[in-house]
Amino acid sequence: MSGTSVSPVASKGLENPLLKANPLLKAWQTPFETPPFDEIKPEHFMPAFEQAFFDHSAEIAAIVNDPAVPDFANTITALERSGKLLSRVASVFYDLVSAHSNPAILEIDKDVSSRMARHWNPIMMNAVLFGRIVALHDRRAELGLTTEQMRLLERTYTRFHRSGAGLDEDAKARMAEINERLAHLGTTFSHHLLGDEQEWFMELGEGDLDGLAESFVASARASADERGMTGKAIITTSRSSMEPFLKSAARRDLREKAYKAFIQRGNNGNANDNNDTIVEILKLREETAKILGFPTFAAYRLEDSMAKTPEAVRGLLERVWKPARARALADRDALQELIAEEGGNFKLAAWDWRYYAEKLRQRRANFDDAAIKPYLTLDNMIAAQFDTATRLFGITFAERKDIPVWHPDVRVWEVKDASGALKAIFYGDYFARPSKRSGAWMTSLRDQQKLDGDVAPLVLNICNFAKGTDGQPSLLSPDDARTLFHEFGHGLHGMLSNVTYPSLSGTSVFTDFVELPSQLYEHWQEQPQVLQTFARHYQTGEPLPDDLLKRFIAARKFNQGFATVEFVSSALIDLEFHTQPASASADVAAFEKKELEKIGMPEEIALRHRPTQFGHIFSGDHYASGYYSYMWSEVMDADAFGAFEEAGNIFDPAVAKRLHDDIYSSGGSVDPEAAYIAFRGRAPAPDALLRRRGLLEEPEAA
Ligand SMILES: [Zn+2]
Repeated sequence: MSGTSVSPVASKGLENPLLKANPLLKAWQTPFETPPFDEIKPEHFMPAFEQAFFDHSAEIAAIVNDPAVPDFANTITALERSGKLLSRVASVFYDLVSAHSNPAILEIDKDVSSRMARHWNPIMMNAVLFGRIVALHDRRAELGLTTEQMRLLERTYTRFHRSGAGLDEDAKARMAEINERLAHLGTTFSHHLLGDEQEWFMELGEGDLDGLAESFVASARASADERGMTGKAIITTSRSSMEPFLKSAARRDLREKAYKAFIQRGNNGNANDNNDTIVEILKLREETAKILGFPTFAAYRLEDSMAKTPEAVRGLLERVWKPARARALADRDALQELIAEEGGNFKLAAWDWRYYAEKLRQRRANFDDAAIKPYLTLDNMIAAQFDTATRLFGITFAERKDIPVWHPDVRVWEVKDASGALKAIFYGDYFARPSKRSGAWMTSLRDQQKLDGDVAPLVLNICNFAKGTDGQPSLLSPDDARTLFHEFGHGLHGMLSNVTYPSLSGTSVFTDFVELPSQLYEHWQEQPQVLQTFARHYQTGEPLPDDLLKRFIAARKFNQGFATVEFVSSALIDLEFHTQPASASADVAAFEKKELEKIGMPEEIALRHRPTQFGHIFSGDHYASGYYSYMWSEVMDADAFGAFEEAGNIFDPAVAKRLHDDIYSSGGSVDPEAAYIAFRGRAPAPDALLRRRGLLEEPEAA
């Protein structure tokens, strides 16, 4: 920040001995200046946030009150330099909220979310600041900017404009109110969901284990252990527990009980019920869109995306829906036949699908997940994801034991580039525990940038895999292994980032582009070359037998009707929530039912995320009317991997270099469509997605 006379930026903290002792406010004397998690306590956060808000406001005031004519340096670059302390405190805080919370942290979170909105509102709606940005934006062609600077100016202008910086004062005041309320509601939604997930478990007695693999029972014991029920075995609503249970538990009554608990999260009429929260969120989002001049929230949200319009999103989803539904219905009939063959006298229900699909897969592909699991140890799959990155991008990984972490299970690696220079620090937090929210994600504690010297990013992968017990390693299902590579693909997007300005760093791209680096990386996980090297039996060390490998790869296309239906219906309902008037979804369950009837949803399949547990779209607005993004990105990833196949080498150096330069390292510094075309030489071919999911082929008979 260039010096002006506005505020006593640094003095507030230094005079207060309590603040001086706060590890969040001190210089970090740790290796690579990583957060000293071992010293940070919940009571440090609120004072640190207050200091960070104060500093940031002062930095913004300095830009606003700068008497000099606005130029790129005194406005845009100054904005990029502002708020460092705030991002430092917030990134540590939100890591703990998601990955290792406790009642004290969650209590602070309730205050922080509204407080954060109150802090950002006057910045994002500051008329003088916006005036400076507009003045520069109007003259952008004459400023002699680099490509990255031009992109930064355009993105900054768009961000402020879309936040309501150009509105009149009354409208701004209402927007501010709404933002604050929405922040509170998003936090409420995720706390409710976490609450229901923490409360529910189902104990498995000796007679309840029929069909369950030994490794599953071991992880069920580990889950019980985590909750202080040593010696027992439980299943939880975490996907890593629920999915394998539904696939293999022979007891139909237990499957039904577990399944119902899973799909009822947030919808139990208890203190954690999310229905009212959803209704209010949708109403406020609609009002926001109208204030900003858009007919619907989806229209507002999608304007700033690759898809651009709700119609484009609907077009893609409907194109995929038809063949996926047809495939699912054919599979449903095959599953019903299988039940009849086994002498079952009941109609296939939702809690039966995974179980019989798994049986059908064993019959058709002679393959089941449990057979491959012993070959997929977490450690070996981590080695595989690292080795793939080394071959593609020349980076190497060395584990460090001296870096403070938030939980003893967290592992840390130092990442170096081909010249041996520090590239990033990578944290892996792999196991499920009650203090962690469900799902898997990548985030960062510090982003790459070069504004004031090279800053190496601190990148995190958080998963919810089942831990091994009794000295057994953690064994991954094929889905888990895919998730591992997915999140690591996001991780690489953060670690390989090579931009100057922090707000364009790594994953700071459109939501419908951000899943490209992650989904593309999944392709390497299922390559024979990779599996032959890294998939080894955890007891014998034997490599994956060839025929099992072949059956595994063939089985990947199995049950894709179900998976695609589950996903596309969720994406469609997200779109409906945000294109129809909010009044239409005043009764959330009725709305869900009506919309699913409209698209002919098979009644044996539920949404992958039912509304009251749809954290993607209700915990915050990041994926709101944006759940389709995974599929939008899939059109690109399915097509992008083809570049390696065409080269005849999945590690082809020339293709890998383009992938690095155009996709993984460029962050938000270029237009995503241009980035893709630079990599591939053309726009993506849309059928690659259907082909990859096997939805272009005729369905097989049972
Ligand atoms: Zn992702």
